[in-house]
Amino acid sequence: MRPFEYELAADAERAISAVAARPDATFLAGGTNLVDHMKLGVASPDLLVDVSRLLPATIDERDGGGLRIGAGVRNADLAADMRVRTRYPALAQALLAGASGQLRNLATTGGNLLQRTRCAYFRDPSMACNKREPGAGCAALDGYTRYHAVLGASEHCVATNPSDMAVALLAFDAVVQVSGPDGAREVPLADLHRLPGDAPERDTTLRHGELITAVDLPPLPIAARSAYRKVRDRASYAFALVSVAAAVALDDEAIADVRIAFGGVAHAPWRASRAEAALRGGPATEAAFRAAADAELADARPLRDNAFKVPMATGALVATLRELTGAGAGGDAR
Ligand code: SF4
Repeated sequence: MRPFEYELAADAERAISAVAARPDATFLAGGTNLVDHMKLGVASPDLLVDVSRLLPATIDERDGGGLRIGAGVRNADLAADMRVRTRYPALAQALLAGASGQLRNLATTGGNLLQRTRCAYFRDPSMACNKREPGAGCAALDGYTRYHAVLGASEHCVATNPSDMAVALLAFDAVVQVSGPDGAREVPLADLHRLPGDAPERDTTLRHGELITAVDLPPLPIAARSAYRKVRDRASYAFALVSVAAAVALDDEAIADVRIAFGGVAHAPWRASRAEAALRGGPATEAAFRAAADAELADARPLRDNAFKVPMATGALVATLRELTGAGAGGDAR
């Protein structure tokens, strides 16, 4: 591991100015992703500014029934919060589907949003990777692509975002609070993560020196009827091949409103806006769920090893919507 400096920041302002002043400096919170990357030689910051003791670690009520989640709230604590479990159950389920108990005890809300792809070529410095080294090429394009993207990829990168938590937050229209050298701003979660385009080295729209301080969940009655489903190679401690977060509000047997996001299919958590539009106002039937999945996945471009992800995403969405609506295999909401 390359030598680096360490600074325990006294407050957020000092932390931000310390990172902003040096292009190779970065923040350290739970460290569950960053420290791995430093050991692997994937990341080599010259300064770590420790913000783990200064980030807010509380979950606070907001006007109208929303919640403000401090960026320092540990994943395990967020999953266990009774307000999250009852008002946003898909979020609690997504958190519990991620990583291991030990990692969830350490990983923070802000860090979870910034975790980097698990593309094996990204994590191996001997392989070409545009995300690790812009312009180097992409070893995955001729490699093993079982875990890679089927939506929104580019010729420069076909990696997926690994977060479960972010998928549920996206379905719920969460907003990220950010502080930086130029002051504070709000970033809708839908605008935080980027598709790769020709700059896959940039995972998010954050600027250097910007620090996530909190995530706001809006008041969202529909979220009380939500679920997260994750399909993976083993029952725990594995990243999603495909995942789906969904929430449904029924009006009699019709779908009054619906929220859907996919994980494991793209460089960013993927809001399924086409599927939502196809479902709103229509019947809660399996046929409608399948048609909505088809609409969303019409632009899917599978790679050599991951064509299975398209029917898998369809199956995950149909199963989740059936669970939420009570629709039978052939038919109507009950
Ligand atoms: Fe790197 Fe992206 Fe290619 Fe993986 S898919 S090797 S992260 S450029």
